[in-house]
Amino acid sequence: MQFTPKKKPDMEITLCSGCASFYYDNKNYWIERINKQQKALDECMICRNRHGYDFKIWKLKSSSYNCKGGSQ
Ligand SMILES: [Zn+2]
Repeated sequence: MQFTPKKKPDMEITLCSGCASFYYDNKNYWIERINKQQKALDECMICRNRHGYDFKIWKLKSSSYNCKGGSQ
């Protein structure tokens, strides 16, 4: 599958490898590392148990989203 992000990610969060794999496996989301050179690990924001990298996440399935909703 090819995905080209056109807008800002829906989330920017720190994930350990275990929590990141949830998003990698979930077809409703697209996940990418923010900085592939990142060496320092931060606490995972999901499980707060392990450490991992910063990720950008897009929601691909947007059933409840429409253009009229706007954030402004
Ligand atoms: Zn985690």
